[in-house]
Amino acid sequence: MATFQEMIRRNHEQVSYFYDEDTGLKCIIGVHNTILGPGLGGCRIWNYNNEQEALIDVLRLSRGMTYKAAIAGLNLGGAKAVIISDEDTEKNEAYFRSFGRFVEAMGGRYITAEDVGTSVRDMEWVRAETDYVVGISRSLGGSGDPSVVTAYGVYIGIKACAKEKFNKSNLDGLKIGIQGLGHVGMYLVEYLSKHDVEMYATDINENLVQEAVSKYNVKPVSKDEILQLNVDILSPCALGAVLDDETIPQLQCKVVAGGANNVLKNAKVHGEMLKKRGILYAPDYAINAGGLINVSNELEGYNRQRAFDQAEGIYDMLIDIFRRSNKDDIPTNLASDRQAEDRIKKMASLKSFYNKNKKSVFRIK
Ligand code: NAD
Repeated sequence: MATFQEMIRRNHEQVSYFYDEDTGLKCIIGVHNTILGPGLGGCRIWNYNNEQEALIDVLRLSRGMTYKAAIAGLNLGGAKAVIISDEDTEKNEAYFRSFGRFVEAMGGRYITAEDVGTSVRDMEWVRAETDYVVGISRSLGGSGDPSVVTAYGVYIGIKACAKEKFNKSNLDGLKIGIQGLGHVGMYLVEYLSKHDVEMYATDINENLVQEAVSKYNVKPVSKDEILQLNVDILSPCALGAVLDDETIPQLQCKVVAGGANNVLKNAKVHGEMLKKRGILYAPDYAINAGGLINVSNELEGYNRQRAFDQAEGIYDMLIDIFRRSNKDDIPTNLASDRQAEDRIKKMASLKSFYNKNKKSVFRIK
């Protein structure tokens, strides 16, 4: 496969391949765009069928991080690492320290974190070799589990959707359906339970459903029912690609606003379909940016209150996206992409002059 051709297609700055004979580590780091700052993105370990699949994944994921950081107002770029592994790969201390050395060799252009297949413990091994790592446990001064901040951002985002769609400044009286009661879904239910809302929820794990019923007065529904429920707001917090040609015509909600990544099976096609149906869609990577906001705070010395304060910015961010969508008559996911691209372009075209001070990663409020 022509690597340059794939890079040019997605406008990537850099792709670096690393191999370590001793540990068997095979890693690709993709840096999509560093106009706003160093590229931050998790390290995914996956049993890829071939190198081409791994390359496409790292290009796709790192590009996604550029948009997420840009829309969240962070001074960060987009990057990602993928590690090609198989069942025999020993993912031990040496393996992750070897990865840490590769990250260090990127000289700060890439900051890593945990992702699918990696854990907080793995990142602590990485940290023995490089400072360019976040997602460390709270006991070591890191940010710990990001889910609570992600859920808070989704909750704030739901409030913005209620304002936009129903012109309501609070959530009282709304019916909300939640798909998935895992880390994000359960915290979200807790936040929503502070309002006079009717909540319907599902999970394939019956224990989680029972917990939500007993603690937060949620009404249980089956996993097949949730998408067709007659609710005001549907909040997908489980899997990706739940909205497609088949499910969108069946939706009875007026808003889709949840924490799950890649909710639309095909962003272009299904964003347009939601718009045509008059359903307000809070773009996934914008409404769930709380996780990235949380972890990026580690770069300045972690402060949980500051992370929550920054996640509140998701309200205005979504209102701006909806305004753009209305003004340009385009789907909200496209409006979000354009807002993110505009910010990068504007920052790239700022007049440059000498400044010896280090740049900060604080969000521009
Ligand atoms: P999680 O694994 O803790 O929770 C997912 C839940 O969905 C699980 O309880 C699982 O049983 C349930 N589930 C799976 N299939 C289902 C189905 N068909 N119907 C109903 N429930 C089903 O994951 P999480 O950390 O809560 O993340 C949820 C989503 O949010 C993911 O898409 C994730 O990528 C995204 N996200 C999470 C964070 C974060 O901070 N955790 C940040 C950004 C985005």
